[in-house]
Parts: sequence; structure tokens; C-alpha cells
Amino acid sequence: MSEAAPRRLRQLGDVPVSQLRNVGDKRLAALTSIGIENVFDLLTTYPRRYIDRTKRVDLTDLAVGDEAAVFGEVRKVVARRTRQGRVMVEVTLVDDGGSFKVVFFNQAWRERQLVPGVQALFFGKVGDFRGQRQMTNPVVDVIVGPTGDERDGSRIGRVVAIYPASGKAGLTSWEIGGFIEQSLRRAGPLLDPVPHAMITQLDLVDRTASFWGIHLPEDLTQVAPARRRLVFDEFLRLQLLLALRRRRMQETATGIRHPIAEEDLDVTPGSMSTPGASLVRRFLANHRFTLTRAQRRVLGEMAADLSGALPMHRLLQGDVGSGKTVVALTALLSSIDGGRQGALMVPTEVLAEQHLASLREDLAGLDQPDPNVLGGVRPLSIELLTGRIRAKDRQRVLDGLRDGTVDIVVGTHALLNDDIRFRSLGMIVIDEQHRFGVEQRAILRENGREHSEEAADPDLLVMTATPIPRTAAMVVFGDLDRSVLDEMPHGRLEISTQWLSEDDAIETCWQRVRSEVALGNRAYVICPLVEESDRIEAASAVQERTRLALGELRGLAIGLLHGQMKGPEKESVMSQFRSGELDVLVATVVIEVGVDVPEATVIVIEDAWRFGLAQLHQLRGRVGRSERQSYCYLLGVPPNGEGEARLRAMVDSNDGFALAEVDLELRGEGTLLGSRQRGRSDLRLASLREDEDLLIAAQAAASELVQHHGLSAQPALVDELRLFIEPEEADYLFKS
Ligand code: ADP
Ligand code: MG
Repeated sequence: MSEAAPRRLRQLGDVPVSQLRNVGDKRLAALTSIGIENVFDLLTTYPRRYIDRTKRVDLTDLAVGDEAAVFGEVRKVVARRTRQGRVMVEVTLVDDGGSFKVVFFNQAWRERQLVPGVQALFFGKVGDFRGQRQMTNPVVDVIVGPTGDERDGSRIGRVVAIYPASGKAGLTSWEIGGFIEQSLRRAGPLLDPVPHAMITQLDLVDRTASFWGIHLPEDLTQVAPARRRLVFDEFLRLQLLLALRRRRMQETATGIRHPIAEEDLDVTPGSMSTPGASLVRRFLANHRFTLTRAQRRVLGEMAADLSGALPMHRLLQGDVGSGKTVVALTALLSSIDGGRQGALMVPTEVLAEQHLASLREDLAGLDQPDPNVLGGVRPLSIELLTGRIRAKDRQRVLDGLRDGTVDIVVGTHALLNDDIRFRSLGMIVIDEQHRFGVEQRAILRENGREHSEEAADPDLLVMTATPIPRTAAMVVFGDLDRSVLDEMPHGRLEISTQWLSEDDAIETCWQRVRSEVALGNRAYVICPLVEESDRIEAASAVQERTRLALGELRGLAIGLLHGQMKGPEKESVMSQFRSGELDVLVATVVIEVGVDVPEATVIVIEDAWRFGLAQLHQLRGRVGRSERQSYCYLLGVPPNGEGEARLRAMVDSNDGFALAEVDLELRGEGTLLGSRQRGRSDLRLASLREDEDLLIAAQAAASELVQHHGLSAQPALVDELRLFIEPEEADYLFKS
């Protein structure tokens, strides 16, 4: 590994760790077990922290109560049993003359780990035992193992990087650091794939400096700039892939033009519409309400996409209740105006049925020219396709889609089925996108193209009420254009949210349910989430309903909805609740997404801390869907601080975007990003919260780099990106 030409990252990816000195079978297995197979993996295993040996903590300066990291060499280790029968391991450390005691209880194995000669970092609180300072059960990082050959004094001199050592694999931080140092030295200078001018302009250090600075800093001031560069590179690679995918899609797509006349969007509800007017115009003219400014703006953004030659590929973000449905319907109708069909995909059957019912109602009275029927027009045909409709009905819907007599199909995952053919699919809307994977979005689009008589790419609108923070959206949905509904329909009152943990306060909430029902309103009661089993969850919902019917809510008409019920049962309960035959609906979280019953004004969420913040906000969004005051009650005592923080955030804020930021803070990003989309796995150092400026810089840089002729002027970057994608995708993205 030592030639003159600067190394490319992909070359490092081609060097197995077995080629390193001191990596025999045992260490090879250990490295492999923690996911390090090649030198690139090794160099992107970043330190967890550093010990600055130039500013050594003097053991004698430590005060009782301090949190400290103490570095020292084990001088003596003794294990014994306390009078209570617990194993106690007592370790004596020395550090340039000073000495210090560390004690472990119930960790007998420490006696074997911390043998004399081992050098380690101990992290914990300084306590006092009979006038002597000592640490009890600290966190331990072994820096130098018991075998003397590791004790290379040069590395203990200054700043020492501490790696996520793995006790299980039997690798010390010191060993990992040693392999990294060896790799960096033998690799020599690293090729910087980013144009020099860009690096200078962004005030970043070069690539070689970034790897040396993070792994082997001469002093701690080198770490932050090194990290910035590495984070920028992570974001840049991700944004380049997104930009390339987008570009490829545009190059290969055959879009459909669906011109929407702007004046049709500005029509006032209740105005007369001429019979020959577009469906979009007739729909909006007949509609119950005036569009909010945000809805109008978003429709304008979409109209621009739709009339263009490229397929629309747009994400619509809007908090729960912001009125995404009317936007979706308008999009679907524009496609039918253009003589094509539309598909609406939703995550649950309950939601599919709800959408079907409201679509049929909203679109009643709109007809469609059809030369094959008497009179030349027929009503719009909207059909349902879910996994559980009967074979005969399914066949009828499939035939209708194929011959074009079905205009809009509403469905669940069943729409992804391979045997579905369209006469000509013009528009796909996916509601509650967060429930679907990126793959499913792609399948639906591909089917639209391949399974239509006309081989064109349908327009795509994906909608989500999970208000993910802007930075996360840039990563997760970076290949989509974005529209935001940032305004609630007129006259909405803030939902009043209370967190009740006292028994007597709980009565106020059931009292509220009664008084709202007396006013003609309705209530939801959400039963605790049971992670392990739908069956147990359903059983607890059944019980809760009985309990309430005999107790707090005696005399009210209480329905039940849970995931174990059959489709028709669910449907009939929902329609009874909608019509007001039922006053209260006791439900599991099946109602989380999208259910719209405007008369519902109270939601009681039991054991609320069991739900995630996004989920709680979604649940709360089931009320507050009219001009009446609504109430949300969160019940239960959280067992931990995080649960408490979530409930407090709910009480403090009604704003989904603000809550999403809190959520990101509480849960960290891993959960948000998931692991399914390739490319994200490259975010090892970057933090969406802390590195927003770098993300924005990287996005701008990526679009600049890709703008002219893809990345053909940047072969080094192309080479590097190949590390992060499958060969087939690389061929597709990089073929000229
Ligand atoms: P979401 O964005 O959560 O899908 P919906 O589309 O279900 O929201 O709309 C929430 C409620 O607000 C529905 O009852 C809908 O009829 C109503 N709504 C939507 N837009 C408006 C508007 N511009 N004015 C008044 N009510 C509206
Ligand atoms: Mg909705």
C-alpha cells in the first residue's frame, strides 16, 4: 500500500484488514465481528472520545463528587467477597506517582480484565470511602492490554483517541487505534475528490488532514475541523446520489402533461359552473369550503409540475388536519381531466374505506364524457382495491382499470400487486407516506408506467403528516420536490391538551367525555399499546370498553375498534361512529392515521407514554377537525424521564414540526432515518441536528457538481460513490 499516487477511498475499500501487520486469524475474526472488513471500514470507525494527555488530570486534584476520566496503569488487583456476599474487585491505579482506587461490585470478570500492567481510562464519579477517594463501578476503556508489545510509549504521549472497543470481540481501543495508525501511515496521501476551489470556499481542510486530524490529532484543536470535513463528505455523497437519481429519472422519464388552468383553482365555492368546465373546476366550485391560502399555493406549485413535460415527483407535508385530502383529490381529478386514471394508496383498510366514502361523496354529481354510453356521459367511477375484497369484486375492479371505466382506484398495498393493469394511469397519490417504504413508492410508479397501455410515467404526489424536521427531509426525501401546508383551515381552535396522572383528575376527563357527548359531539378512547401482540392489545381494548361501559361512561353508546376485527365489522363500527349512533369509540392505535370524523372533540389516550411523540401527535389530530373546541387527555405515569419529556412536549405544543424537532432530540436520528435506504448508512459522524449548515452546503455543492453533464467531470467522486451503491445502480446512474 505505498505508492506515490494519492489513494482513493475505493482503493482502501479493496484492501482487506488481513493485510495489516499484527492482524492474524484471531484479530481478523474480531474485526469482522464488529463489521470492519477492509481499510476503509477501519478508517471510518471514528473515535468516541479523546484523552488529552497534555492536560493530565492530577489524581491528587480530584475532589469528591467530580465526574472525571482517570487514566492510569493497574498496579494491583484483588477480588474478595463482601459480608453481603457480593463480589468486590478492588483495583489500584498508579499514575506518575499518584495512586487511586477503583472498586467494582458484582463484576468478577474485572479481575481478569484489569490485570497489572493494563492501562485504561476510568470514567465515573469520584466518591469517598473512609477518607480515601475512589470510583465505584466506572465505565472502563482499556487502552493498552496486558501484553507488553502494545505498550508503545509514543502514542501515550499526547492526545489519545478512544475507539468503541468491543469487550465481546476482545479488541481494545488501543489495538483498533494501532491498526488505524498503521493504515494511515501506509496509505500515504489520500486523494481529495472534491474540487479544490470548493473546499477552499467552504473553508474545509483537505481529506488527508481530515483523517489524520480525527484519528491522530496532535492536539485537540485539530479534531473539530477534521470532523467538519468528514461530515461534509458524508452529506455530499448522499446528496450527490440523490441529485444523480433525480437527474437520471428526469432524463429517462416520459412525463404526461396535465395542464391545470390557474383560474380553475381560484373558483369560489358555490359558484355556478358551466357543464363543459373541467372536473377540477366543477369539484372546487361545488366544494364545502374555500381553500386556505396554503392549499391554494400548493395547488399552484403542483399545477406547474403537472403541466410540465417531466413527471411530478412531489412530497406534500402538512400537519394533521391541515387539509391534504382536497389537494390530493384535485390532483387526481386533473389527471382524469386529461383523459387518464388516478390511484390513491393509503396504509390501512380503515383509511381506504374512509377515503372511498368521502371521495364518492365529494365527487358525486361529477360526470365524465364517455362516448360508449348513452347520452355520452357517465358518473365518475371510484373503486376500492384492498387485500380483502372478494375475488369477484376484485376482478370487476381490475377489468375496469384495464378498460378505463374505473377512473379512480383507492387501495392499500394491494395496489402494488403485479396483476394490476391500467388503461392509462396519470396520477398516483400516496397518503401517509411514512407508512410506506421508498421501494413501494418506486414499485407503484414503475407499475404505472409498465402496466399502462400508454408507456408514460405517472405523476406522483406523496403526502405525509409526520412532520419530519427539515434537515431530515433533505436526507430522507431528498429526491422529491417539497410543498408544505403551513396553515390550518380557518376557525380552528387550539386543542386543549392535559396530562393527567392523578386519579381524581382522571374523573375530569371522563366528565368531559360526558359533557361533550351531551353537546352532540363524540369521543375516542385509545387503549394502551401492547408491543408484543395484537391479540393481547385487542383483548385489553375489549376489557376497557366493558369497564367504561359499566363505570365512568355508563349509559353512553360505546363502540369498539381494534386490529383483530374483520374488515366489514370495522367498517360498520366506523360508520356508526361517523353517523353519531355511537358516542364513544374505544380503539387501539388502528385509528392513528387519517381518520376524519369532524364531530369528534375529545380524545383520551391511556398510558400515553407508551406511544412515540409522532404517534401521539397523530392521535391528537383525530380531534380538532372542526370549529368546535377540542380536548386531548394524556393518561398515565411515565416510568422514565423520556416518557415524561414526550408528554410534556405534547402539552406544550400543538405544532407538529416543533414536536418533530423534540422527537429527534429525544430519540436520536437512527430511528428516524431507519436503515432501509442505502446511502444513509454512510452517515457515521454527521448529526442532522448539529450539522445542518454542512448539510445545506453539501446539498448546494452536489447540485452544482451534478448540474453540468452529471458527474462526468468528476471521475474521482464517481469512483468514490461506487463504494456506497450496488453495481447495478452505479451502472444505471453513471452510464453516459
Ligand atoms: P389531513 O391533512 O390531516 O389529511 P384532511 O384533509 O382530512 O386533513 O382535513 C381535515 C379536516 O379539515 C377535514 O374535515 C376537511 O374537510 C377540513 N378542511 C380541509 N380543508 C379545509 C378548508 N380549506 N376549510 C375548512 N375546512 C377544511
Ligand atoms: Mg389525511
